[in-house]
Amino acid sequence: MTARLLDGKKLAETLRADVKARVAAFVAERGRAPGLDVVLVGEDPASQVYTRNKEKASKEVGMNGRLHVLPADTSEAALLELVAKLDADDAVDGILVQLPLPKGTNEARILDAIDPAKDVDGFHPVNAGLLASGRDRALVPCTPRGCMKLLELAEIPLAGARAVVVGRSNIVGKPVAQLLLREHATVTVAHSRTKDLPAVCREADVLVAAVGRPEMIRGDWIKPGAVVIDVGINRVPAGEGKTKLVGDVAFEEAKERASAITPVPGGVGPMTIACLLENTLLAAIQRSRPRP
Ligand code: NDP
Repeated sequence: MTARLLDGKKLAETLRADVKARVAAFVAERGRAPGLDVVLVGEDPASQVYTRNKEKASKEVGMNGRLHVLPADTSEAALLELVAKLDADDAVDGILVQLPLPKGTNEARILDAIDPAKDVDGFHPVNAGLLASGRDRALVPCTPRGCMKLLELAEIPLAGARAVVVGRSNIVGKPVAQLLLREHATVTVAHSRTKDLPAVCREADVLVAAVGRPEMIRGDWIKPGAVVIDVGINRVPAGEGKTKLVGDVAFEEAKERASAITPVPGGVGPMTIACLLENTLLAAIQRSRPRP
């Protein structure tokens, strides 16, 4: 069997076009554009690229995208002050503080200071709690939302399916597991202490890999016909001083067993920013409605 490729790049383009049209309708109705404020502290090169891309993408769909760049030695108090200012600013619908923050900054304290209604990353404990209790109002973390949209593309019934999520981070593993549960899958969350991980993975009709270990999940860990969503983004040497990106799944092996699989790059990655834009629009719409 050769698996069908779940093309995240194409799906993300469709989603962005849809968000752009809905933003135009929002502007026509409310007389203002949704605002996304991205905060970058320090000079981490990857974070610089990610934040610039987020600002650019938000502008492309007609939002007010603003990037706040602060020096690496910014104090926690100054960062909290900026977050409080953005929380109080009615024109700001989404606040995203790029992680990781410089060493010594208490990330949880900063993230907890973001108004949950503007928490477009969905990392605030209030949003995690809303998701866990199955409330519609939750702002759901972007990468897990992207995984679910790719599963929709695979058109497999999730109700009753056996799903295995490898990884239990607050950013990916746990929220993906919650979303799969919401769709009535029978969910197992595996992690570094899981015994006989290959056997656990082999039970999965749907396998989500969010580990951060290049090609750890081998082809013979995949149940024939399973759908594989590879969240991992790992940079590895590619010879002659070059590097390349690979996922957490050994793609060439896995595609011979799976029925559908996401490539890396071009799978889950592009969905993350598209879902961030959708979350920002959702936050703007929810903020302009009275709370239930
Ligand atoms: P974390 O490092 O926060 O979590 C990794 C998880 O994998 C942990 O739960 C850990 O278990 C588990 N794990 C580590 N080693 C093993 C092992 N040998 N066997 C089983 N489980 C293991 O990573 P993230 O969740 O933030 O990210 C995961 C991957 O997804 C990374 O490659 C990251 O780059 C990528 N990513 C991609 C995004 C995208 O846009 N496509 C966005 C976010 C992340 P334990 O809890 O026991 O330590």
